[in-house]
Amino acid sequence: MNGSSPSPSCAAIDVVAIDGPSGAGKSTVAKRVAGQLGYQYLDTGAMYRAVTWHFLEAGCVPAECSGLPDRGAAQMRKVLDQTQLLLAAGRVLVNGLDVTSHLRTREVESQVSAVAALPFVRAAMRALQRQVAAAGALVAEGRDMCTAVFPNAAWKVFLDAKPLARAERRVADFARQGRTASLSVVLHEIEVRDRLDSTRDDAPLRQAQDAQFIDTSLLSSDQVVALVLALVRGKPRVMPS
Ligand code: C5P
Repeated sequence: MNGSSPSPSCAAIDVVAIDGPSGAGKSTVAKRVAGQLGYQYLDTGAMYRAVTWHFLEAGCVPAECSGLPDRGAAQMRKVLDQTQLLLAAGRVLVNGLDVTSHLRTREVESQVSAVAALPFVRAAMRALQRQVAAAGALVAEGRDMCTAVFPNAAWKVFLDAKPLARAERRVADFARQGRTASLSVVLHEIEVRDRLDSTRDDAPLRQAQDAQFIDTSLLSSDQVVALVLALVRGKPRVMPS
């Protein structure tokens, strides 16, 4: 996997870029908007989770390497260089192995923000994300879609919700996966991850100035989908001359 990527040109590209913290409703909304528009859907959180899973398997997540002089950077770079990541039909494959069911474990969840803070990991993910966009119209969700990966996206959205509402949604997600989790623990984990994601140096989580802000705390996913579709349909992409 290599980190070089074409820098985005100035013309608007067919990307609906959706950012926001965990539990704001990005995945549900992005998937449904993509379905309605006939666009591809890209879950960039799943990409960072897959890399984290792979680093865990290789025994080189940042937490395990803090004692090394380079904090494990050389080993992580080596593993990343030998990683082939494929996202297709809702599955995530690492070097041909379907790891989808491993991406939402507590272990991955507790390490993913540290992995996602590494500039060489972000550069590699950014390059892949832009490759996906080059292949066709896309709804891409994550933390830095509007600000860093697709600053020239034709449509930009920032979804947020009150921390308690976000934690409640995560608990409901876990319940659907057959997992029980206490609301206070989940709330704490969300706050830790948000802090790490929004304070890192490289592409921290923040709302792009030109993104449409939507507070989803009191909205159903139907309502949020309708708002995003209205934005897309009401603001057709300006074709480059
Ligand atoms: O969205 P999800 O909860 O799956 O993202 C998992 C983690 O991946 C985030 O907490 C963040 O650390 C990282 N991430 C990121 N940039 C993105 C998407 C996710 O740093 N574009």
